[in-house]
Amino acid sequence: MAKITFGTIRRRNQLTSFLVFWVLFVFLLLSFIENPWYKAPLEWYFIPALGIVGAFILPAALGRHYCGQYCPTSFIADGINPVNRAGSLLKSRQLRKVFMLLFIALFAVSFSPWKMGLPASMTETYWSAVFNKLWILWLVCPFGIAFPLIFILGFWKGGRTWCNYMCPWGTIGVALGKPQLQVTEKCTDCKACTTVCSQPEVLAGAIGRQGGIIDKNCLTCLKCVDVCPTKAIEWIH
Ligand code: SF4
Ligand code: SF4
Ligand code: SF4
Repeated sequence: MAKITFGTIRRRNQLTSFLVFWVLFVFLLLSFIENPWYKAPLEWYFIPALGIVGAFILPAALGRHYCGQYCPTSFIADGINPVNRAGSLLKSRQLRKVFMLLFIALFAVSFSPWKMGLPASMTETYWSAVFNKLWILWLVCPFGIAFPLIFILGFWKGGRTWCNYMCPWGTIGVALGKPQLQVTEKCTDCKACTTVCSQPEVLAGAIGRQGGIIDKNCLTCLKCVDVCPTKAIEWIH
């Protein structure tokens, strides 16, 4: 019988969330079509509430654990060549800040409470008409910007490039989350973990004789745990 590794579990988790995402997305699209065979029970607060849970509460609770194991796009990103070929611009993390500020601005403008739940007579003004069309950007941003960048950067610079250096969701996970893994004294500094990690720099301050906490940019994909010959990487309790 094949050995169960963290990698096997991760790929199962990722495939499940990938399939669930597409089923939910198709249901949502169908609910916008006239006389759909399925009508999603959507209220005005559903999408912003889902957005707050997904954008802030999940990252705060799980940190980057969500990125390593459960994000629907991680099924694709982890399937592309994992070798990190990112240059200094991407590693500077400046683009990450730009994408996060754009994401927060878009979220705030699109879902600002003042235009939610108001009677149509109060919202059908010029500006609300402009703002009400911003939901289109919530389709353009993930499907027109994020997904192409995941593929293009993935094949060009390494499968997790978008996740490691650009994704606003991931940036919020880093900002709100805590470090999750540590290297114990069992580490022999063999560096096997750095050969499988999509951003080996997160291990730099932790492996070796000094041991230590793995940087909280770590995706907790647990590839390093699978390859570590001395089982030196553990959860922080
Ligand atoms: S960084 Fe973004 S795209 Fe990548 S796994 Fe995390 S939330 Fe998903
Ligand atoms: S694979 Fe394990 S023993 Fe080798 S450097 Fe990494 S943590 Fe240390
Ligand atoms: S340090 Fe380990 S768990 Fe973190 S991203 Fe690298 S391989 Fe994955």
